[in-house]
Amino acid sequence: MNQRDTLKINAAGHLEIGGADATELAEKFGTPLYVMDEKYIRDMCSAYRRAIEEDYAGNGLVLYASKAFACMAIYKIVAAEGIGVDVVSGGELYTALKAGFPAEKIYMHGNNKLPSELEMAVDSRVGCIVVDSLAEIDKLDSLCERRGVIQRILIRVNPGVEAHTHHFIQTAKTDSKFGFSLADGTAEAVTVHALSKKHLRLDGYHCHIGSQIFEKESFGLAADKMLAFMSEMKTAHGFEARTLNLGGGYGIWYSDGDARYSVSDYTGYLKTVIAEVKCKAREYGIREPFLLVEPGRSIVGEAGVTLYTVGTIKEIPGVKKYVAVDGGMFDNPRYALYQAKYTALLANRAAEKPCEVVTVAGKCCESGDIVCANVSLPKAETGDILAVLSTGAYNYSMASNYNRNPVPPVVLVRDGKAEYIVKPQSYEDIIRNDVIPAYLQK
Ligand SMILES: *Cc1c(COP(=O)(O)O)cnc(C)c1O
Repeated sequence: MNQRDTLKINAAGHLEIGGADATELAEKFGTPLYVMDEKYIRDMCSAYRRAIEEDYAGNGLVLYASKAFACMAIYKIVAAEGIGVDVVSGGELYTALKAGFPAEKIYMHGNNKLPSELEMAVDSRVGCIVVDSLAEIDKLDSLCERRGVIQRILIRVNPGVEAHTHHFIQTAKTDSKFGFSLADGTAEAVTVHALSKKHLRLDGYHCHIGSQIFEKESFGLAADKMLAFMSEMKTAHGFEARTLNLGGGYGIWYSDGDARYSVSDYTGYLKTVIAEVKCKAREYGIREPFLLVEPGRSIVGEAGVTLYTVGTIKEIPGVKKYVAVDGGMFDNPRYALYQAKYTALLANRAAEKPCEVVTVAGKCCESGDIVCANVSLPKAETGDILAVLSTGAYNYSMASNYNRNPVPPVVLVRDGKAEYIVKPQSYEDIIRNDVIPAYLQK
C-alpha cells in the first residue's frame, strides 16, 4: 500500500484505514462513507511545522488551507497541532470560530469577499485579511475606521509563475481572477494605495501559484519573484514588508504517475523553499520575512478514503464496463470538474490481484457522473465495498445534494476506532429549508 501507515491489508484480506477494518466501517456506518485518518493529518501538520522550526528558527507559521476539508473537528485538530488556518468564506470562518479556533491565527482570503464576510472577519478579530481588489481595500479601510480598529492585511500578488499542473487549477497565470500582477505594475500601485490607508496595516504579500504541484522549482521561482518585488518596494517606497505568504499547492499521490511522497518528503519540500527564501533575502538585501505557507490538499488528501457499495454492473461489449456505486458526483465532483484521477480497490477483497479495467460510475442522472475512470480491479460483484483512495481533500468540501442525495457522513479514525465528525444527512435535513408558499398549499 502506498500511504505510509494509513492503509494496510489485514490478515482477513481487508483494507485497513488507520487501523480500522474498512468493511467493518462500511457495515457499522453504512456507505457512502468518508473515512479520515487522524494520525496522518497530525503527522502532516507537524512535518510542516517542524520544517519552519528547524530551518527558519520558527519565524513563520503553517496555515492549513481549510477549504480542502472543513468541519469543526478538523479545526480542533489543527489548533492542537499549533498551526493556523486560512479561510475563504464566512461559512469557513464561522465553522472555525465555532470550533474555538484562535482568531489571531486565522487568515481570510477571497477574490470577492462579501461586505458581510469582511465585517465578520474584522469583528471577530481575525489575524489577517488578504486583500484582492482596490475596492476591497477602500471598503475594508472605511469599515475599520467606523469601528476604530486597525486591521492587518496582506496583498495578494500574481507572480506570473506557471506551475506545471492541470490548467484548470492554476491560478497565477496572467489571466487569473486572483491577485495583482507583478509584471504590469499593478501590485506596486496597490501597495502605494494600501499604505495610504490609516486603518489598514500592510504587512506583506501573498501568492498562491496553483495546486497539485510537484515541481519544487516553481515554489522557489515564486519565492524569488516575491522577494525581488519586496526589495523593489523597499527601494521605491521605503516599505519593508514583514510577511511573505507563499500559499499552498504541494502535490499528493492519487494514482500511478503521481509522485509518492513520505511525510519527510514534505518537510524536505518546505525546507527547499525556506533555503531559497533565505538565499534571496540575502541577495536582495532585505530581512528574512515572517514566512507563511498554506498547504491544504497535502495535509488531508491522503488521510481520506471514501467507501462505497457496488451496485449495478454494466458491460458494454467492446467499449467498457461500468461498475456503479452508491455515491457519485454529489460526494466527489472532481472527475466531473476536471477528470481527476483516482485509485480504487475492493476493500473486502483487497489482497486479490486486479484483473480488469473498469469505470466506476456514480448514481446521479448525469453521464459525466464518474467517480474514477479506467481503474484496475478484481472482478467486482454487487455488494463489494469499493474504496477510493486520496479523497480527503476537495471531496467532502465540494459535496452537494445533487439529485437530493444526502451528503455522506465523515468518520475520523484514531487508533483503529472510528467516530463521526460529520453526521449523516437525513432526507428530513434535505427538505429542512424548503418552503411551500401559501398559494401552493391549497
Ligand atoms: C486552495 C488554496 C490553498 C491550498 O492549496 P492546496 O493545493 O490544497 O495545498 C492555499 N492558499 C490559497 C490562497 C488557496 O486558494
